[in-house]
Amino acid sequence: MTATEAEAPSLLEQDLCTGCAACCDGTIFTYVEVSRDEEQALGDRFAMQSRETDAIFFQPCPHSVCQSCQIYTIRPETCRKFRCKTLKALRADEIESAEAFRRVDEMLRAREQLQPFLIAGETLNAARERRGQIAASAERTASETAFVLKLTAFDLLLDRYFRDPRKAMFRHKPSGQEAA
Ligand code: SF4
Ligand code: SF4
Repeated sequence: MTATEAEAPSLLEQDLCTGCAACCDGTIFTYVEVSRDEEQALGDRFAMQSRETDAIFFQPCPHSVCQSCQIYTIRPETCRKFRCKTLKALRADEIESAEAFRRVDEMLRAREQLQPFLIAGETLNAARERRGQIAASAERTASETAFVLKLTAFDLLLDRYFRDPRKAMFRHKPSGQEAA
C-alpha cells in the first residue's frame, strides 16, 4: 500500500470501508510503506522492516480488528491517504454508492469461496507465494490447478475493482508492446 491522496472520508465512505477492510487485512496488499519518522514513532506497535529510505510493515495489519483500525487516530500517513479504485470512483461520482457496496460484497463472497482452496491458517500472501511455486513446477495435481485458478480469478477481481492500475497484480500491456 502506498499513499495516494488526502482528504477526510465521508460518512458513506466510512460505511463502505467498515464493511470491507481489504486494504488492511492482507487481502489486497502484502505490506504498507511508512516514513522513517513513522518507523520511529510507531516502531513499538508494528514489526517494521527498514529499507534504504523508509520502512514497511507486513499485512495482515495487527491493528485491523473486526474490520476496524484500532489505532485510527495515529495510523500511518499511507493509511490515511489511501483510497482504493472503487472508493476513488465513488468520490469522483463515476459510480453510485450501490455499485461500490456491490463490489465490496462481490469481493467478500469471492474471498469466502476461496477459503476451501487454502491450507488451514494460510494467509492470502502465503497462498500467493504457494501459487508461484506451483506455477513454476513442472507438474501439478488437479487440486493445485484448481487452487491456482481460483486465487488468480480472485486477484483479477481485486485488480479490476480495488488495486491502482500501476499496482495491479496482472497488468495489461498496451497493444503493440506484447513480448515477441
Ligand atoms: S479496499 Fe477500498 S473499500 Fe475496502 S476498506 Fe480499503 S479503501 Fe475502503
Ligand atoms: S494501521 Fe489501521 S489503517 Fe493502517 S493498515 Fe493497519 S488497520 Fe489499516
